[in-house]
Amino acid sequence: MEKPCILQVHNLKKYFIVNTDFFGRPTAYLKAVDDVSFFIRQGETLGLVGESGCGKSTLGRTIIHLYKPTDGEILFNGQKIKTQQQQQLLRSSMQMIFQDPYASLNPRMTAGDIIGEPLAIHNLASGRDRTEKIAQLLHLVGLNHEQANRFPHEFSGGQRQRIGIARALAVNPSFIICDEPISALDVSIQAQIVNLLERLQAELGLTYLFIAHDLAMVKHISDRVAVMYLGKIVEIADSAELYREPQHPYTRALLSAIPIPDPAVEANRKRIFLTGDIQQPLDSLAGCKFRSRCKEAVPLCAEQQPELIDNGAGHMTACHLIGKQ
Ligand code: SF4
Repeated sequence: MEKPCILQVHNLKKYFIVNTDFFGRPTAYLKAVDDVSFFIRQGETLGLVGESGCGKSTLGRTIIHLYKPTDGEILFNGQKIKTQQQQQLLRSSMQMIFQDPYASLNPRMTAGDIIGEPLAIHNLASGRDRTEKIAQLLHLVGLNHEQANRFPHEFSGGQRQRIGIARALAVNPSFIICDEPISALDVSIQAQIVNLLERLQAELGLTYLFIAHDLAMVKHISDRVAVMYLGKIVEIADSAELYREPQHPYTRALLSAIPIPDPAVEANRKRIFLTGDIQQPLDSLAGCKFRSRCKEAVPLCAEQQPELIDNGAGHMTACHLIGKQ
């Protein structure tokens, strides 16, 4: 039986004003997230991939209400997030792990204070209880309680990310947005952090939105994968299906760039190089946003924006050529 949805996002938009007229009225918007809809089931990991600037981090930050949505609906456990009180409640159930563990940790606070801060803010533990909880959290992420008195600069990059994870876990969240949690780490450390996230998911029943541009790592950790291009989801499918049978021309190009660990197969790998200018995600551009780089574009692509359509078994693609051939 399929698990219930923990998160449902309907037609979410996040526009930033980039120009105003003489009276301060907006005249141009950057459409960082443009009419995005998807869901995540309890206990699953949805990978979110795309090039830098495609809006994937903005999408994560809008879901957790670090950015106010311009329009659209976010349901968490079936409940709409509308009031400030609901947003505060949401902050304990939904947490975020950031890309740069050094920049996201206060250099003047010890690891123990950093992890204990959300416990204090949410009135979850004080005094001795808080100290014990901090020690448990350090242990949970593979550190030890003696490290609670050290400052961020005394830890390696991987250890700092473990502190960031412990801080996120302090309030017992059920859903975590992992915003490129391994991008700033050495390759040798990346697998350790991914293994830690997988272990924590199994032990604590967590659900993840895993944002990354390392497609090989996303394949490894994700149950389903969504591909984003200029503020829109262009393809979403089960991880194995998407990597085996990518449908959207952009997804095919992205996946063709992944090296294959078998030298014989790798020698025959055909890389698809994207050419053409990337459109700016400004205002309303008619047609498909990928058309300036798409070798398969047809006249309809300049006129009409393709809808994200289910082509069977939850494999959804936004391309005029898919499902109509
Ligand atoms: Fe290419 Fe047209 Fe499909 Fe867009 S809709 S990906 S331009 S073929």
